[in-house]
Amino acid sequence: MMEKAERERLTGRFPILEEMQRAQEVDWINPGMRAYEQAMEGSSLHMEDIDDAEARLLRFAPFIERCFPETKERGGLIESPLVPIPRMQERICEKYGSALPGRLLLKKDSHLAIAGSVKARGGIYEVLKHTEDLALQHGLLKEGDSYEKLADPKCRSFFQDYTVQVGSTGNLGMSIGIMSAAVGYKAIVHMSADARQWKKDLLRAHGVTVMEYESDYSEAVKNGRRLSDQDPKSYFVDDENSKDLFLGYAVAAKRLTGQLLEQGIRVDEAHPLFVYIPCGVGGAPGGVSFGLKQVFRDAAHCFFAEPVQAPCMALGMITGLHNRICVQDMGLTGMTHADGLAVGRPSGFVGGLMAPMISGEFTVKDANLYHYMRDLLETEDIFLEPSACAGFQGPVRFGQSREVREYVERMEFSGLMERATHIVWATGGSLVPETVREEYKNTYLDAF
Ligand SMILES: *Cc1c(COP(=O)(O)O)cnc(C)c1O
Repeated sequence: MMEKAERERLTGRFPILEEMQRAQEVDWINPGMRAYEQAMEGSSLHMEDIDDAEARLLRFAPFIERCFPETKERGGLIESPLVPIPRMQERICEKYGSALPGRLLLKKDSHLAIAGSVKARGGIYEVLKHTEDLALQHGLLKEGDSYEKLADPKCRSFFQDYTVQVGSTGNLGMSIGIMSAAVGYKAIVHMSADARQWKKDLLRAHGVTVMEYESDYSEAVKNGRRLSDQDPKSYFVDDENSKDLFLGYAVAAKRLTGQLLEQGIRVDEAHPLFVYIPCGVGGAPGGVSFGLKQVFRDAAHCFFAEPVQAPCMALGMITGLHNRICVQDMGLTGMTHADGLAVGRPSGFVGGLMAPMISGEFTVKDANLYHYMRDLLETEDIFLEPSACAGFQGPVRFGQSREVREYVERMEFSGLMERATHIVWATGGSLVPETVREEYKNTYLDAF
């Protein structure tokens, strides 16, 4: 833990930290956000990198379609629906007193094929990228070959000599584990104590080795990396620093443009887009937001949402310390019912890259995640896991937060807000077994 004097110096400089230390909900607007052109000046990644990732996923589509017939309808692309949720919008207004100007939609990454969470984007992309590298290097693929070939027994037996490993609180492990097993790799997932039992069971059913740790996520990652480094034929997926994961997530933005167009929704300077995404270590919300900024530039306003006990990215952004600060430094536990967001230290790579691009952050109490979950189920009949409901804190706070009002005024949107589009990014839930859903539905926590 950080020295007391250092903590006091930080809270003196950034008074919002005091509330965060007491695990209170906060709305933070990022004073470091810059206009798109300026924000991109120091960026190590660009639109070409996202185009490259998108093209790679397209090359793999025939392979994915063959391994996972549920993706046939979309031709082997793993993509989720974007749906209006007007009844939830009404509920947010009536129950929480937040009149949200414009319309509210849900991006159902909770229902992505194969992994049932947003991790189906980054995790699967990284496994495929590694697979393409190996296949080209070892002559399994030639220019012009259909990647469907990689599902042949000859290729599969080649990949059986190789291992893929990852440290995970659950969902990343599921996406990496299931895809690695499908390619033929030996897959090892190092799971932290907060990972749910059903996720471990599901992975084992796919032939994945699950190693369990008593400790938190950082420890699982550290040990996984150590074991992987000892084996030259093992590849470690590094959630904190991986550009491939990040780019896999970013492809979402390019696909979203088509979906908005189909629904006749305009996004431009006069039609702002607000997006609210749950944040753990930062890869998923960072990658998706980075993509949205490339596509929509200054018309996209991206907000992250984190649990009050694990607001690691907010701490890193507010203080500018990024991965040099953790939630325990502030006396927080890092423990939350939002297992996908139970991360104590943010990615330094994502924090640094996204510091000039994100509009702000909301923190949310666990008790509210369960309320939002039930609200969505009752109004729209859509089930999300608690972690995935964190994004709703955005619309709930939007209509009542002084910080948000000032942001809207400063951006000179005040007259445009009726034309705004708000997207809550639903990050997981469709694979949650019925018994666990029942347990979630009946969970009521005290909101201190
Ligand atoms: C992993 C995850 C997130 C956040 O992604 P990070 O890359 O860890 O920031 C959000 N929601 C769910 C359900 C997740 O599994």
